[in-house]
Amino acid sequence: MIKTDVIIIGAGPVGLFAVHQLGIKGLTANVIDNLDKPGGQCIELYPDKPIYDIPAVPECSGKSLTDELLRQIKPFKTNFHFNERVQEIKEEKGNWLIKTNKNKNFLSPNIIIAGGVGSFEPRKLPIKDLEKFEGKSVFYSINNKELFKNRKISIFGGGDSALDWALEFSKISKVTLIHRRNEFRGAPHTLSQLEQLKKTGKIVIKTPFQINSANQGDTLKSIDIKNEDGKIEKIETDIVLGFFGLIMQLGPIAEWGLNMTKKTINVNTENFQTNKPGIFAIGDICNYPGKLKLILSGFHEAALASVECFKRARPNEKFKFQFSTSSKDIQKRLGIKND
Ligand SMILES: Cc1cc2nc3c(=O)[nH]c(=O)nc-3n(C[C@H](O)[C@H](O)[C@H](O)COP(=O)(O)OP(=O)(O)OC[C@H]3O[C@@H](n4cnc5c(N)ncnc54)[C@H](O)[C@@H]3O)c2cc1C
Repeated sequence: MIKTDVIIIGAGPVGLFAVHQLGIKGLTANVIDNLDKPGGQCIELYPDKPIYDIPAVPECSGKSLTDELLRQIKPFKTNFHFNERVQEIKEEKGNWLIKTNKNKNFLSPNIIIAGGVGSFEPRKLPIKDLEKFEGKSVFYSINNKELFKNRKISIFGGGDSALDWALEFSKISKVTLIHRRNEFRGAPHTLSQLEQLKKTGKIVIKTPFQINSANQGDTLKSIDIKNEDGKIEKIETDIVLGFFGLIMQLGPIAEWGLNMTKKTINVNTENFQTNKPGIFAIGDICNYPGKLKLILSGFHEAALASVECFKRARPNEKFKFQFSTSSKDIQKRLGIKND
C-alpha cells in the first residue's frame, strides 16, 4: 500500500503542473497514467506541432512543453506509475483507497483526476484467442526490449511504431511484418531500410494480410494470417506485437459516482472539487460554465485544487499564501540555495 498526500490520475500537461503546485506547498504526489510515458495528448497526438498560447512561451512543441514541465517538477522526485490504469476508488475512513488494473493500491486523502479525454488505450488485434496471451506473448507497447531477444516475432501495423520496432527487433530476432495494405506509412529513410532488410532476408514482409486466428493451448506457437482472397498462411511465432494506434476511453472514471455532463466531471470552480470531498477534476476532463479546453486553463485549475488538497492533507496546519519569489519555504522545496 502506497500512502501519499495526493494521487494524480493522468500525467498530461495538467497533471504534471499539479505536481508542481502541490510540491511547492510541501505535499507529496504519486502520478498514475495508463500510457508508458508522461505528456498526455501533447506527446501522443502532437509532439512536434507548435503551441503558441502558453503564457510567456511564444512557441513550443508538445514534446518541449512536456520536457519543460518535467524539468520544473524534478526537485520533487515524484513517483510515476506508468502503464497502469486507475480502476477502482473506494472511501475508507475519510481517505481514498485507489486500485489500479495491475493491483497496486494507494491510500490518500486526495485524488486529482487530470484524465483529459480518458485513458489512451491501444487498439487491439480483433482475435479472442489472443487475449489470454496478452502481457506474456502478445504486446501493444514495449517496455523491456530484453524480452524480445532470439524470438520469432510477428509485428502487425503499417505506421511508424510498427516499422521502427520491426527494424529494431530484426537485429536480435526473426521478424515477420504483417500489414493489411501493400503500402507502409513511414519516413523515407525507414522505408528504404525496410526494403534493404527484406532483400537480404532479415525481415519477412506479408501484405495485404490480417490476423485470422492463433493456436489453442497455453503457449503461443503460431498464428494464421489471411489475405484479401481468403488465402491463409501459418506463421510460426512466439511473440505477437500490434501497433494500430490508440483510442481514448473514459473507462472506469464514469463508474465512480461523480456528477458528470457529457463525459466530463462537474466541479466547483472555487477549488475544482467534484461532488465527492477530496476528489478533484482539472484539465480537459472537468466541466464548469465557461470551461475552455486549453492547457493554460488546466494550470489555473491545478493551482486552486492544490490549496484544498493542502487543507485536507494537513488539517492541523494553516494554509499560507506565498509568492515563489519571496518564500524561503518554496525555494527550499525547489532546492534553491539562498545565502
Ligand atoms: C492536435 C491538438 C492540438 C492542440 N493544441 C493546443 C494548443 O495549441 N494550445 C492548448 O492550450 N491546447 C491545445 N490542445 C489541447 C491540449 O492538448 C489539452 O487541453 C491538454 O492536453 C489537456 O491536458 P490534460 O492533462 O487535462 O489531459 P491529457 O493531455 O488528455 O492527459 C490525460 C492523461 O490521463 C491519462 N488517463 C486518463 N484516465 C486514466 C485512468 N483511469 N488511469 C490512468 N491514466 C488515465 C491518459 O492516458 C492521459 O495521458 C490541443 C489538442 C490537440 C489534440
